[in-house]
Amino acid sequence: MKSKADFLFKNGKIYTVDEKMTVVSAIVIQGNKIIAVGDESELEQYIDAETKVIDLQGKAVVPGLIDSHYHFTGVGKREYELNLDGTISLKDFLNKVKAEVESKSQGEWITGRGWIEEDWPSKKFPTRYDLDKVAPNNPVILRRADGHAAVVNSLALKLASIDETTPNPQGGKIIRDKKGTAVGLILDKAMQLVRKHAPSDDTPEMISQYALKANEVALKYGLTKINDMGVDFQETDVYKNLYKHNKLKIRIAAFIYGPGDNAQTLLENGAERGLFDNKLSIAGIKISQDGALGSRGAALVEPYSDADTKGLLMHNDDQIYPVIKQAAENGIQIAIHAIGDAANKNILDLYEKAANEVGNISDKRFRIEHSQIVQLDDILRFKHLGVIPSMQPSHAIGDLHFAVRRLGMDRMAEGYAWRKFLDQGNFIPSGSDAPVEEGNPMIEFYAAVARKDTTGFSGAGWFPEYRMTREEALKSLTIWGAQASFSEEFIGSLEPGKYADLVVLEQDLMTAPESELFKIKVLMTMIAGEMVYKNDKFE
Ligand SMILES: [Zn+2]
Repeated sequence: MKSKADFLFKNGKIYTVDEKMTVVSAIVIQGNKIIAVGDESELEQYIDAETKVIDLQGKAVVPGLIDSHYHFTGVGKREYELNLDGTISLKDFLNKVKAEVESKSQGEWITGRGWIEEDWPSKKFPTRYDLDKVAPNNPVILRRADGHAAVVNSLALKLASIDETTPNPQGGKIIRDKKGTAVGLILDKAMQLVRKHAPSDDTPEMISQYALKANEVALKYGLTKINDMGVDFQETDVYKNLYKHNKLKIRIAAFIYGPGDNAQTLLENGAERGLFDNKLSIAGIKISQDGALGSRGAALVEPYSDADTKGLLMHNDDQIYPVIKQAAENGIQIAIHAIGDAANKNILDLYEKAANEVGNISDKRFRIEHSQIVQLDDILRFKHLGVIPSMQPSHAIGDLHFAVRRLGMDRMAEGYAWRKFLDQGNFIPSGSDAPVEEGNPMIEFYAAVARKDTTGFSGAGWFPEYRMTREEALKSLTIWGAQASFSEEFIGSLEPGKYADLVVLEQDLMTAPESELFKIKVLMTMIAGEMVYKNDKFE
């Protein structure tokens, strides 16, 4: 059938990521959909005077990239608060705080994120006493890059009335010295005790600003869809409003934070799918069940090798099992953060219980976010239960620097075990957990295939044999990502009938030298037939 095309891209190396991983040289787009792929000589019939013909000059094209674990407004917010990514020492960190203090008036709150003490020579957590030296008169709260710990100064503790008598909140911890005095480090739910005293940044106006910024950042990296992990209806209402005015371009699968009122509302009212021409779905619930390895909040079966703690589970079974069961009955997808082996075991137990009570759950595509440390016999249960391990390659190449210390060499075989999941038949959707990591899918691709940090370093216990192949890494950022949020029918590969979501790359990620992969730039991003980002080098 002959129909007029809006675009013909020709002379490219187009990785379709179809069933056979076909590579073609040309693709035809009409309106928001792909109408044909193949050799350009076969596709001439679609061209007429109106068709824009683009010569790709041999450049690589991949399906629109999908980040399956992302914090959308968090990425936008990163641009507005004190950014401590990449600080190289405690001194560097304190200098940045000092500069921020100087730009504020006395008493004004200072909020920020991004530090990792493991990157500093001291490898020690900062304390209130460090911060007090540079910020005596401004309350300060600065989250660690993983978002599971924060350092606060004495004034912030005072405003939050935290002293020797303050109990740890459920799912949180106030780190104290031997006398019981808080040292300024607070974990997980304890962060709220302080954060709630800082000015609220969750007004619709601020959320809208953050979302627009994140949209811009994501499109530049070639992302055409993200899974937004843990939002409320205030945020999804803002998104709807932005979509209505055609200001948000990226596709979002929103996972509502639970357990709690928002999650209950979703369970009762049901999912919303296919909104704004399949740009937005609100069809999942995100729950966090432990912390992170770096701050020793991840829940382990046996104690940490470098501290007398097993981390902590955030919820009791009776707080989250009813949500899981109801979701299984009502067609709502569940995605639960579990990093430590105890948290993974706990969630697999609950999923298994739901499978026993509700019937097979494999068609529900329940997920475990991170699946970082999983005992080997529990890895098998992912396959048996049909649970999706949603993983972040960049976390592995960051965490592996200290994971051996936290876990001991014996447990390392259970860490970030991509190969084991893939070989038993699970598919892995990849994500960045941005703003925890940069949110650049080329870093994820590199981390997945190299399993080395970006300086090329890999050490004892890094298990290079757990790497993904380039083909697997590409799938994990495209078709597997689509499957992870029930959208493989309309995105995830370049095939006739699917939306024209695609990315033109400066270098071919399937053949470029390994050390170049994370530097590959995006030349153009297209979503539903619309060019939503163009680098100056394109066209
Ligand atoms: Zn996350």
